[in-house]
Amino acid sequence: MLPQKLAAAINRQIHQELQSAYHYLAMAAHFQNEGLDGFARWMELQHGEEMQHAMRLFRYVHRRGGQVHLSGLEAPQIRQGKPMVVFQQALETEKANTAAIHELYAIANEVKDYATVSHLKWFLDEQVEEEDSIEQILAHFRIAGDDASALLLLNRQLGERQPEEETEEEEE
Ligand code: MG
Repeated sequence: MLPQKLAAAINRQIHQELQSAYHYLAMAAHFQNEGLDGFARWMELQHGEEMQHAMRLFRYVHRRGGQVHLSGLEAPQIRQGKPMVVFQQALETEKANTAAIHELYAIANEVKDYATVSHLKWFLDEQVEEEDSIEQILAHFRIAGDDASALLLLNRQLGERQPEEETEEEEE
């Protein structure tokens, strides 16, 4: 059974992941409206990743005999401007996700729930990957500057992103 304090914290994290997914979905819509289908596809896949994160925690709470409580999501506010501005916002989203995972990890340690500590290690590693991949994209945006053909090439490259194989944990 999950300690009450930890169950509440995991529920907050599920909300955080779903809210992030919703942000990425809005970013995908934004890029579709701009005619940048490659950036839109990248954001759509990122939405899928955040949904997977939420579902990992959702299933984990149930495996531990806890209850999931869903709360309302906020309407995403997407910054207007150059495509790079939206990717900068994506990096801020990931940094907030990382901070939230760290906070959850601290609570799991505090209540000595070592199964949750172990479960969260995957998320710690995942956040390193998430931040690194967006930092790399931002570096490419900086190189491209205002060069339209470089930006269109980047749009095409990001559009080639493939969904990651889901390395799902044991179901039961
Ligand atoms: Mg996440």
